[in-house]
Amino acid sequence: MTAYLACRDIWKRFGETIAVGGADLEVARGDVLALLGPSGCGKTTLLRVVAGFQQPDAGEVTLDGRVLDSATEAVPPERRRVGMVFQDFALFPHMDVARNVAFGLPKGADRKRRVGELLDLVGLDGLGARMPHELSGGQQQRVAIARALAAEPLLMLLDEPFSNLDPSIRQRVRAEVKQLIHQVGITAVFVTHDQEEALSLAEQVAVMIDGRIHQVGTPREVYAQPADRAVAEFIGEANFLPAEIRGARADCELGNIAVRVTFEGVGEVMVRAEDIEVVAVGGVAAEVVSIEYYGHDLLATVRLASGLPVRMRQKSAGHLAPGQAVQIAASGEALAFPGRSDAR
Ligand code: ATP
Repeated sequence: MTAYLACRDIWKRFGETIAVGGADLEVARGDVLALLGPSGCGKTTLLRVVAGFQQPDAGEVTLDGRVLDSATEAVPPERRRVGMVFQDFALFPHMDVARNVAFGLPKGADRKRRVGELLDLVGLDGLGARMPHELSGGQQQRVAIARALAAEPLLMLLDEPFSNLDPSIRQRVRAEVKQLIHQVGITAVFVTHDQEEALSLAEQVAVMIDGRIHQVGTPREVYAQPADRAVAEFIGEANFLPAEIRGARADCELGNIAVRVTFEGVGEVMVRAEDIEVVAVGGVAAEVVSIEYYGHDLLATVRLASGLPVRMRQKSAGHLAPGQAVQIAASGEALAFPGRSDAR
């Protein structure tokens, strides 16, 4: 991949806190990448470095072959050609929609026409005279996107763009924004701590943990082939069991199960919650501890003989109830990780 946006070995400290600790990230032209990670892992700081609002302590940022940050270079935000959509949309409350959008445009006779085009593009045609407080959350966000697009940026950055929206409209607005970004064809990076949002919206997902990018891949890759234990633990509902791995099999408390072999010896297997099921016979004894019902499926926590809790996703509740004795079995292919974490 030829990187359109490249962040190389970015470091940023705040006093004792290392917010970004050697982050590497490449984004191809036209891609929509989700920067996903737990709260406090440094996502916003990295985004602000790319936008130029935050000066990195070390590292290099280039966009379309142009150096934006390096040991000798620091291009100011307004000259980066990077558009930013903030979490709270940051519209000017005393300006109407048209003036908010025009704010991002260079002065010139063409401004009115361009504002009209942009409002049309984001589906807000005819709403130019409204004040921000007269718009819904989704509409306000579209104004923010139009304003960010006005200056014809090479890259668009969105910081938790859906977190301020009511959950009832979030899914629809996500789909609309996805379509809009594709229509414009712009390269975009959005920050989120919401896995479902990242996996459903982006072509590429970068998983950031403790200030570093651990993996960049398609949603399917980061879910099915996590690069390391930290990614496996963060994405999806994963169970880790001590195991001995030989050939393509692993001996663990769930029995002798199939495993994708990456090494042999003592380690751990990761079995996804959806790859464990209740069976009538031939399974491993467990006791149901609790059940979380989600309508389309449920998450049951069961306890194995050793006391180890295991999470399993089931299609229907059947007769599961806390305290019940069941037999469970793993299906599919588990993943193996070397070593054993004592922290668990
Ligand atoms: P969230 O999802 O909760 O917004 P994040 O992954 O975006 O988190 P950052 O906001 O980048 O994380 O913060 C990374 C770390 O740096 C955190 O420990 C945070 O407290 C710290 N931090 C961020 N900005 C500052 C600042 N201006 N001054 C001091 N510490 C900061």
